[in-house]
Amino acid sequence: MNATPPIRNGNLAHPDAMRFVDGERLIAHLVRLASFGGGEALNDGVRRETLTPQELAAKQWLCSLFDAPGYRWLQDDAANLILRREGREPVLPPVLVGSHIDTQPVGGWLDGAYGVMAGYEVCRALDDAGIRTRRAIEIVAWTNEEGSRFAPGAMGSSAFVQPALLDSHRQRRDAQGVPFGDALAQALQGLPDLPRAALGRAVHAYLEAHIEQGPVMEADGRVLGVVEGIQGVRWFEVTVRGRGAHAGTTPESARQDALLAAAQLIADLHESVLALGDDTLRWTVGKLEVAPGSVNTIADRVVFSIDLRHPRRERLDQIETLLAERAARLWSGCPVGVKRVMDKAPTVFHPMAVAAVQAAVEATGEPACRITSGAFHDAMYLASVAPAAMLFVPSIGGISHHPDENTAHEHLIAGARALTAAVLKLAD
Ligand SMILES: [Zn+2]
Repeated sequence: MNATPPIRNGNLAHPDAMRFVDGERLIAHLVRLASFGGGEALNDGVRRETLTPQELAAKQWLCSLFDAPGYRWLQDDAANLILRREGREPVLPPVLVGSHIDTQPVGGWLDGAYGVMAGYEVCRALDDAGIRTRRAIEIVAWTNEEGSRFAPGAMGSSAFVQPALLDSHRQRRDAQGVPFGDALAQALQGLPDLPRAALGRAVHAYLEAHIEQGPVMEADGRVLGVVEGIQGVRWFEVTVRGRGAHAGTTPESARQDALLAAAQLIADLHESVLALGDDTLRWTVGKLEVAPGSVNTIADRVVFSIDLRHPRRERLDQIETLLAERAARLWSGCPVGVKRVMDKAPTVFHPMAVAAVQAAVEATGEPACRITSGAFHDAMYLASVAPAAMLFVPSIGGISHHPDENTAHEHLIAGARALTAAVLKLAD
């Protein structure tokens, strides 16, 4: 790719553009992105939660990467960061390619970051191939996909498709009491020169490349996964109310121990869910807050989370009914309240977008499969307003949300090649 190739008007067959993907450049960008919030080694993990100084520094670096003609950096009111690669017909709705660069409190180097940097590599490959697509291509880093600092997750993409949501997002607070709205305003000020793009804009199609975050593809020897949909997710906040009392003076008969009650309820629910014998059901209690949290005071309040996932809505309804029924009882004398804090129906991706990914994957010649996503992604919100699809690459050992998260470099590169062909097909 030494000489500057002539600008083609999309006449290059889509798969041919794949060979312009520069694997070394992609990996170098990923490694550099991991340094924002990362340690000396990649498996030290990455600490880059949403709207933190680490994330802002990463965004500033991204903006410094591309200042070529034909490109424009933008951000919207939800602090979604957008790189727009202009098309031949700028009035047409663009093809969006995105993911997120925020991480869990201690996350891996590829979750989200891969989809964003693979999107950038698509643009660079198209540059090197001399291709200007008919539609603009916009690479997006969505705000707060992870939901670990501010719940719920995917605030940036949900506000993009439904701008009215941003007001309620602004009220959410992190563990330090910082409102999302304040953190958002600060992040927007961190990139003061970027023009503001509108939320709720028309989108022609959306593609997201991501690591699988599970063990299935590796176990089956598959390099690329054509994602057909995302299982449904519901989050609950369960509050158990007891009575705080002195640990040394209060006899068992006089106790309303909220922590004991929570433990009993969690164990009971877990057993009931397992008894259904449904291997595709996912049920997790991952967060528990005990008040007052003192070694010698009986707990007077416990709040815990439930993350429930399944590809079918009926199953989710069934578990929610079970939860309500169990919560209506007293546990160690303590009443229980349940609040549903997120409900995302199972997503079925659009046949046109899935077909574009399928054709691109086949063109790479890599071993591939069809797969349903176990984790939720920004794509599930975008799928409500535009044809959307995803592309997976395998996760070594199925590990994610952990410093050991990793994928073979050649698989990351194969994914970027397939993404390039798929984006070109949708944008031309
Ligand atoms: Zn992710």
